Amino acid sequence: METKERKPGNGGPGKNPMKMFLYYYVIIMIITFIINAMGFSSLFKTQVQLVTYNEFKEQVYAGNVTTVSKENENTLIFIANDEEGKPGVYKTGIWVWPDEELNVELQKQGVIFAAEIPTEPNPVANFILSWVMPILMFVIIGTVMSKIIGKRMGGNAMTFGKSNAKIYAENETGKTFADVAGEEEAKEALKEIVDFLHNPQKYADIGATLPKGALLVGPPGTGKTLLAKAVAGEAHVPFFSISGSEFVEMFVGMGAAKVRDLFKQANEKAPCIVFIDEIDTIGKKRDGAGGMGGNDEREQTLNQLLTEMDGFDGRKGVVILAATNRPESLDKALLRPGRFDRRIPVELPDMKGREAILRVHGAKVKLSDNVDFNAVARAASGACGAELANIVNEAALRAVRMGRSVVLQEDLEESVEVVIAGYQRKDAAVSEKERKIVAYHEIGHAMVAACQNHSAPVHKITIIPRTSGALGYTMQVEEGERVLMSREEALNKIATFTGGRAAEDLIFHSITTGASNDIEQATKLARAMVTRYGMSSRFGMVALETVTNQYLGGDTSLACSPETAKEIDDEVIATVKEQYEKAKDILAKNEEKLHELAAYLLEKETITGQEFMNILG
Ligand code: ADP
Ligand code: ZN
Ligand code: MG
Repeated sequence: METKERKPGNGGPGKNPMKMFLYYYVIIMIITFIINAMGFSSLFKTQVQLVTYNEFKEQVYAGNVTTVSKENENTLIFIANDEEGKPGVYKTGIWVWPDEELNVELQKQGVIFAAEIPTEPNPVANFILSWVMPILMFVIIGTVMSKIIGKRMGGNAMTFGKSNAKIYAENETGKTFADVAGEEEAKEALKEIVDFLHNPQKYADIGATLPKGALLVGPPGTGKTLLAKAVAGEAHVPFFSISGSEFVEMFVGMGAAKVRDLFKQANEKAPCIVFIDEIDTIGKKRDGAGGMGGNDEREQTLNQLLTEMDGFDGRKGVVILAATNRPESLDKALLRPGRFDRRIPVELPDMKGREAILRVHGAKVKLSDNVDFNAVARAASGACGAELANIVNEAALRAVRMGRSVVLQEDLEESVEVVIAGYQRKDAAVSEKERKIVAYHEIGHAMVAACQNHSAPVHKITIIPRTSGALGYTMQVEEGERVLMSREEALNKIATFTGGRAAEDLIFHSITTGASNDIEQATKLARAMVTRYGMSSRFGMVALETVTNQYLGGDTSLACSPETAKEIDDEVIATVKEQYEKAKDILAKNEEKLHELAAYLLEKETITGQEFMNILG
């Protein structure tokens, strides 16, 4: 029911995997440059000093020169002893040659006329410089790189295929079943496994074998990972935990080797628990179409996992837990009996569950006495455990911000909205005209909802902008838990979605982009009614679409002919149109109240459902 403003997309810069290599390249370049600049290599060379011809002559007459050689027609190289008698190599240009006078002097001094005076680096140094150093450098860089890559891939790349599954000793996770709330069925199922590991004899006596593997499935944030950690905390047996993504390795075959190693370790430590989080990363359906190398690697890893699961003895007491939020994408082979044959659903919590989760997390913060978790749980309908944990934390943060030492009910209620719609944006630049449109839009939603029989009561209406981009929203809160939705309720919901736009059109005779989110939701619901809920008389109870990922957004794929697809579109369009007309009708009949309520909302910015109903009468 929110009025959305359009925001420019923010395409953040993605991380480039090549970046790392680039860094190393640059570092090597810099080191090479420094070495050259420091004249490091000259250490190995004979130092040659340039001197004038006069100086050369002086040195000869002083009797310091021991050896002379002609480098070419115009250059002489000579060795002369300095004051301390240490020989040095010098070079000079020839002025006049043959210089008879000098020639005589040289012979008089007994100077050696050498064929050559080497000024190049000596052969050993030369060899070290041009052969040993580069190779050494490569070796060092290679070692460093492989260490870093190894670390990134979660292991040492040199020790191929060593699994680094973390072994949690008992209780080390610090979580117990008491930390998990609202997932009673899942907890029951896992308790049985823990019990089996504690006294396998009890089960062996009666001849029962426990399933080798159990798969936790459910939407993100419902506590699957938390449950596994709680099992570790309760089990008092070794607990191996690894995430599916850690199997995906750089080199083909390493993932499989990791699986092998993991199960080898587990077999040695039995009884124990192996937990594979996010198993969908390796357990995806094998489609046979190879193509990319990564695919091959994944398949090998999966095959290895299947082999290992078949290979070990269930009675030995190795239990494999896995978690995923896309069970439909898992390879069928993983789900057949003898592998992950037990499926433990970890669904979104119901109202009671939400309350229980709030209590678990509420126990960690200082609460005022007036806190009513039931009311918060009702307002946070559809929230998962992670969101509820976040709500409690946001409330505590808000309390601190407000300079209080305890969390009040209002903190919790505000933080529900923060988690749903983002923070308030009091400084948002919204013109007076826009505020007015938003006020009518939101009252439009609320009035359409209130004037129909099967709608959830309006809880709150606000036109304070939020960081999510919403310029205002109407919050409806169901009185009890709803599981089923009737056709009337669904239609009324669509009418309520269209109520915002209907009010804009009715009052301002112009429409805005503010309804984009409403349109999306209305369309989605109308479509589901036709294609999945069998609620249109035109098609009846025919499944025209199937849900492809139940827990992640619920994408659907068409399961009908193109002709039918067109008919579906027509039906959806007609349904939404009809409800829009209905909404407009309701608002037109109560136009006075609409004006009154909108003016009140404009003045107050936020009004409660009670205030709203009082004015509506
Ligand atoms: P999943 O693995 O299903 O995506 P997590 O187990 O990682 O979800 O949950 C994230 C966090 O949310 C947990 O650490 C916990 O704080 C909170 N949480 C989720 N579900 C529950 C629950 N049922 N009870 C208590 N806390 C929960
Ligand atoms: Zn709206
Ligand atoms: Mg998880």
